[in-house]
Amino acid sequence: MSEGPLASVPELADALASGRTTAAELLEQSLARARATRDSLHAFLHLRADAARAEAAASDERRGRGAARSALDGIPLAIKDNMVLRGEPTTCASRILEGYVSPFTATAVERLQQAGAVIVGTTNMDEFAMGSSTEHSCAGVTRNPWAPERSPGGSSGGSAAAVAAGIVPAALGSDTGGSIRQPASFCGVVGIKPTYGRVSRWGLVAYASSLDQIGVLSRTAAGAGLVLGAIAGHDAKDSTSIPRSVPDYTASLSGDVSGLRLGLPREYFVEQGVDPRVRSAVREAVDALERAGAEVCEVSLPHTEYAVAAYYLIATAEASSNLARYDGVRYGHRAADAKGLRDMYYRTRSEGFGAEVQRRIVLGTYVLSAGYYDAYYRKAQQVRTLLRRDFEQAFERCDVLVTPTAPEPAFALGSRTGDPLAMYLSDVFTVSANLAGIPAMSLPCGFVDGLPVGFQLLGPPLAEAALLRVADAYQQQSDHHRRQPESS
Ligand code: GLN
Repeated sequence: MSEGPLASVPELADALASGRTTAAELLEQSLARARATRDSLHAFLHLRADAARAEAAASDERRGRGAARSALDGIPLAIKDNMVLRGEPTTCASRILEGYVSPFTATAVERLQQAGAVIVGTTNMDEFAMGSSTEHSCAGVTRNPWAPERSPGGSSGGSAAAVAAGIVPAALGSDTGGSIRQPASFCGVVGIKPTYGRVSRWGLVAYASSLDQIGVLSRTAAGAGLVLGAIAGHDAKDSTSIPRSVPDYTASLSGDVSGLRLGLPREYFVEQGVDPRVRSAVREAVDALERAGAEVCEVSLPHTEYAVAAYYLIATAEASSNLARYDGVRYGHRAADAKGLRDMYYRTRSEGFGAEVQRRIVLGTYVLSAGYYDAYYRKAQQVRTLLRRDFEQAFERCDVLVTPTAPEPAFALGSRTGDPLAMYLSDVFTVSANLAGIPAMSLPCGFVDGLPVGFQLLGPPLAEAALLRVADAYQQQSDHHRRQPESS
């Protein structure tokens, strides 16, 4: 059995189809790598070795009689620890959900299983997906496979690290304000956040319901397309899911970008606050796409400077409401020795939630309070509308927007935890897509001091196929995504 990193999703699909490997072999390789990096990376919160072995055996048996269910049949994948799987623990990296075992399976996860994928386990994250570094996990940090003293990004840092280290070829993440794209950028992998409603949120533990979206982290755009194709589509259990059929994302990977209009939003290429080396790596990616036949123009998204403020008002407001359900009665942890009901609520929530989650509940409760609702929450909703209109106007002039994903490469562990505002600012380039509900994707475009840098593609609603086509065309001519971190 190979001990090396797992190859990409399409390569593994080929190897399975041609009989060069088996689902059982791939799973053992994945489990061995997960265990070997448990202390150095800590990408996983829970490995389900026995259940996964049964799934891999069933996959090999199906394939043996010519009944493979899809290209993903037998491929080991991971899910973020905020997606439920029946009979398995889900903690959202929070003490308050310690001991919780789900009685049902998230739609996206169920669809992966129906496609034959083998779920290896759940990955580490910031508590309730609140954070940009995976340092707000009650189980301890995840490390960046490229530099162990650096953050893998967050909140889907465990999924990003697991893919970068070749433990799995792809993993699910969730993205409320950048939690798939920013860790993808920090770890040198592909990350796609689809249009709001493209993937069902049923079984995704809610953070901020009008922003949350499940998506994919993967080594390649082609792999992301295969996994997204399996999980996307309408779900009657999620009233916000879009009742539209899902295109064949693999068929859209023509490698052709000729005539495609790429827009560069002026506000995302400012001098201040962005590492100039990141800016030039993104410009080089744009140049490569231009050489491949794309047209480039400058556009403006004039309300960009208000996006982070609006995001942190809306996200915290929704979080304060969603997290009210953790009261010690219905789920997980309950404080012992409480004196009456109020004391039980108080103790359960102050013991169960970490400092960042408590900060957000307090902030969100404040912005929704009678005296401040108009000044903060309503204002933020108005800004949200303006941001959406900015994008609508930009997409009249171009097909896809290109920006940096994050202002800088992976920052050092511990460097932001004492300054929540500095942490929030690492989301400047990602939150607008969630506020507007549009699809967005990050892919590797170079290295700065040995650390990966990503660039972001943004498209109009339901333009995932276009984003994947541009990303795949870029990856056909670049090899940043083929480099493997040494530490893993
Ligand atoms: N970093 C952002 C936040 O803390 C985004 C998190 C996410 O997308 N889940 O809210």
